[in-house]
Amino acid sequence: MENTKEEIKAGKMLPVMETFYTIQGEGVHTGSAAYFIRLGGCDVGCVWCDVKDSWDAGKWPITSIHEIVTAALEYPGRLVVITGGEPLMYNLEPLTALLHEYGFKIHIETSGVYPVTGDFDWICFSPKKFKNPHPDIYSFADELKVVIYHKSDFDFAEQHAQKVKDSCKKLLQPEWSKRGIMTEQIINYVKSFPNWKISLQTHKFMDIP
Ligand code: SF4
Repeated sequence: MENTKEEIKAGKMLPVMETFYTIQGEGVHTGSAAYFIRLGGCDVGCVWCDVKDSWDAGKWPITSIHEIVTAALEYPGRLVVITGGEPLMYNLEPLTALLHEYGFKIHIETSGVYPVTGDFDWICFSPKKFKNPHPDIYSFADELKVVIYHKSDFDFAEQHAQKVKDSCKKLLQPEWSKRGIMTEQIINYVKSFPNWKISLQTHKFMDIP
C-alpha cells in the first residue's frame, strides 16, 4: 500500500476512472478522434458537474502508466486527451513523457487549480467559480473554455480572459442543462464580442461518450 502511494506520488501509477476512444466533442479540437484518459479525483465541487462519480479517487483502479499507454496504442488515433476529475492533482510528467515517446499528441482539460506538471501539446483551461485557479495556468493555457451556467458567468469569463496569453483561444460553452436559456445569450454575446467563439458539447448531440 505504502509502495502504491509512493508510485502515485511519483506519477508512475494513476487512478483511472475510464478510458475510451471517441470524437472530441467540444472546444477548439472538436471533431478529432481522440483517446480519452479520465483520471479519478477532484476537489473542485462544481454543482453542475456531469462526472461527480470521478470525485472520489479511491473508487478507481490504480493503473501503471505503461498499462495506460499500452491500452491507448490499440487504437489508430494518436491524440490523447487527459481529463478528469481534475487530472493535475497528479504528477503527469511520467505519463506525458511515455505518451510522447510513443508518438502521441497530448491534450489536457483542467480547471487549473493545481500547478501544471507534464508536457502537453494543448492545454484547455476551464476555470470554475468553486475554486480559484493556480496563477501559473494563465501562461500555459492554449484554450480558455468557460462554461456558461448563469449570465454572471460572462463577467467571470472576461476576468480570466484578461490574464491569459494573447494567443489563447477563448470559448464560451453553454452548460448542458441550461443550454435552452444560455445558448441564445452566448450567440448574442459572441456577436458583440467576437474575440470569443462558441463551443457546444457536440458529443452529447451525437450521443457518443
Ligand atoms: Fe466536475 Fe470538472 Fe468541476 Fe471537478 S472540475 S467538479 S470534474 S466539472
